[in-house]
Amino acid sequence: MTRSRPRARGRRTAGTALAPLPPTRTMTIIAQDPSLVVNGAMLTASITIPNERLSAGPRGYRVQVVDYDASSNRWFVPLDASVYGSIEEPSDPYEPTSRRTRRQDPLDDPGFHAQNVYAIAMRTLAHFERALGRRVSWSFGGHQVKIAPHAFEEANAFYSKENEALLFGYFDDGHGRRIFTCLSHDIVAHETTHALVDGLRPRYLEPSSPDQAAFHEGFADVVALLSVFSVHEVVDYAVAHATRSRRTRMVDVARLTIERLQDGVLFGLGEQFGEALSGVHGSSLRRSVRLKPSVTLKDAPEYQQEHTRGELLVAAVLQAFLSAYRERLQTLGLTTDGRLPASRVAEEGADIAERLLTMAIRALDYLPPTDVTFGDFISALLTSDRETRPDDSRYRLRTHLAAGFAGFGFEPSSSFGGEVGRWEPPPLEELTYAYVHRESLQRDRDEVFRFLWDNRGPLGLCDQAYTEVGAVRPCQRVDLDGFTLRETVADYVQILTVRADELESLPIPGTRKRIRRPAGLDDWQTIRLLGGGALIFDEFGHLKYHVRNALLSPDRQSTRLAHLTEAGFFEHRADAGERFAALHMKGLRPSMPAVTREERPWR
Ligand SMILES: [Zn+2]
Repeated sequence: MTRSRPRARGRRTAGTALAPLPPTRTMTIIAQDPSLVVNGAMLTASITIPNERLSAGPRGYRVQVVDYDASSNRWFVPLDASVYGSIEEPSDPYEPTSRRTRRQDPLDDPGFHAQNVYAIAMRTLAHFERALGRRVSWSFGGHQVKIAPHAFEEANAFYSKENEALLFGYFDDGHGRRIFTCLSHDIVAHETTHALVDGLRPRYLEPSSPDQAAFHEGFADVVALLSVFSVHEVVDYAVAHATRSRRTRMVDVARLTIERLQDGVLFGLGEQFGEALSGVHGSSLRRSVRLKPSVTLKDAPEYQQEHTRGELLVAAVLQAFLSAYRERLQTLGLTTDGRLPASRVAEEGADIAERLLTMAIRALDYLPPTDVTFGDFISALLTSDRETRPDDSRYRLRTHLAAGFAGFGFEPSSSFGGEVGRWEPPPLEELTYAYVHRESLQRDRDEVFRFLWDNRGPLGLCDQAYTEVGAVRPCQRVDLDGFTLRETVADYVQILTVRADELESLPIPGTRKRIRRPAGLDDWQTIRLLGGGALIFDEFGHLKYHVRNALLSPDRQSTRLAHLTEAGFFEHRADAGERFAALHMKGLRPSMPAVTREERPWR
């Protein structure tokens, strides 16, 4: 009888030497969407994603494509797994020179649609994991998200927590052309981001304020936008479009004005497709770029709605991207008589987009877990970036981001030690660690709870409320320049349910202010007050930051309750489970296809 030997990690090459497995692989995707055609061919890109042994679908360790169409009740047979090669030698079946691509237009090939969603979802997940320096879970708790690239015939695409799935629709554009939302890079990245942000900050779906409602949409668009611009092929195209030059040519930096960059980067992209999709995500990116900075927009009635308000967040980050890019090119141009190779100009753009994307994702850990505002996002961006990337002299991204938001009237929620936008450290000298094990603080929820309870006074917790520690996550964050930072992030929420007639008598330590009772509520109506904090521990288990929204904050709770009353929340409760579908239906045909759980064989 022969016994099989345990498989060594790695592959055998000539002799007995073990070569390491390739950590990444490349896959061909559509660079932006099918309407971006260069020299008569749709612009594709080759992106790098984590390597793995794929099953037919493709189905991998975090993303599983399940190509079932509920509208026509049919399955698309997945490509045989062998087309993706082995883990030792991965292959890309849709690489532009491959036989498959030459034989059939990838646009007509459901297998290519499946690869496109798989690769973009994996790249988005990899961006999150690299930025946060740890594994990142999907919101629904399972390990694998299902993606249906042809889920239903409808101009819609959304993340469904209940189905643990990203669902992409298709539709006819009225001119006999079939539009597939699964082929739009920004739509796929946007929906994937919803599933990841909801996992990291589940309370952001709670009713709170116009900012919180807009944050999910705006943030998902920011990730989508920067994800597209960090693809070299897209920036190459944008630079060529803006300067009317070829990639091999020298570019006159002075010709790259902000207006031309905006035009080249966005207006030239997917115009037709954007029109067909008006109301679905990709198009909002194109609208955001047209927004001229103005400090009054944020108070205008039309910018209180979640999608339009989300555009302000996108526009602020986009302004930061464009001004950082412009400044960088000017600086480089000064030393080269104002001329740079087009390829270098494109590389700088992709690099800035990649860094901004990393900053935006990293900021999530430095946000309060409840009731987020855009000001909190600015503070989180600036503080977390300072921790990981102390030297910002190359692109001055922090300065450009603060200026981008200020242009739309948004200021950081905090400043400390003369640094605008820095979160205030906790009262270090008042904290006790006497009853906790520092090492356990880096992984154990109960240990973190003990720390919180022991320090509930100095940390300003409400000891009457239900308190729960969410997750405790050790991270190792590595900057693109090689700087490494180890920290542990944990978060907790506090919930206090009171009757309307109890609100104004709630004792609030340290102040005589009271939470104002909203008008029109009966005495017996219950109100749920939420608060919470993000705890950032350094590598030695000391608390560095406590980013919180105190439960008993009279001003914040009064403002929130007034907003909810005005929005009719106490009259009609929205079902959070249907939120993404409802959000994404705005401006679209009102009928949803009957996609029931029973019709989903993958459940
Ligand atoms: Zn969305």
